[in-house]
Amino acid sequence: MTVWGNGLVQRPLVSNGGQFGAPRPGGRTHAGADFIGYNELRAIEPGRVTFAGVLTPAAGVSVAIDLPNKIDGHTVTIVRMHIKENTLKVGAGSQVVAGQLIGMMGASGNAQGACDHVEIRFFRNGQLIRTVDPVTWIGNRIGGGPQPAMLGSQQRVSKAFVNGRAAPTRQAAIRGSLAAGVTGTFNAFTHGESVEGNNVWFRGHFTGLWFWSGAFTSTSTQGLIRI
Ligand SMILES: [Zn+2]
Repeated sequence: MTVWGNGLVQRPLVSNGGQFGAPRPGGRTHAGADFIGYNELRAIEPGRVTFAGVLTPAAGVSVAIDLPNKIDGHTVTIVRMHIKENTLKVGAGSQVVAGQLIGMMGASGNAQGACDHVEIRFFRNGQLIRTVDPVTWIGNRIGGGPQPAMLGSQQRVSKAFVNGRAAPTRQAAIRGSLAAGVTGTFNAFTHGESVEGNNVWFRGHFTGLWFWSGAFTSTSTQGLIRI
């Protein structure tokens, strides 16, 4: 699954002048997009962290995550820059799920103000081939799936108190909950953080929140679409 850098499917704002391709000193153009208006930086796609630290003096504290699968023969790397100092939650070699907290928004490096610089890089044979507009690329990835309103739903009964989270990982913000013995209605599942050997999370039909399937009397994904 894919989310924006705020962990949601609602796109955050881009700063004035922070658009992809905007002019930069020396005739260069902006290789990413600078998103604003939130604090928690979350992984946009699942993948492996290949870098976490100060990338260059200009980039400041940065995280690079390689997607698990190639796209059109290219390795796709999502780079985040200007992260607040001393807030990194991942290190090189970490595996992350989409929506996982990676750090806090900041202005490290040469940022003009706090922003989430997102850069989508396509590599072939270790060579950077191109960067693309994150607004378009992420938007297409999120928009490509079925819309919740069109989906069938299934019900599961909770066997224990269970939190509803903004993303399918225990690191994501708690936005709701179900008490034990309550029937929840779900319309999708995904593979998120593995808890007690089970990485299936259900998506709430009405809330869009993620609930770990192990908290329900049935962990079956039958009738639920996978996203
Ligand atoms: Zn930027």
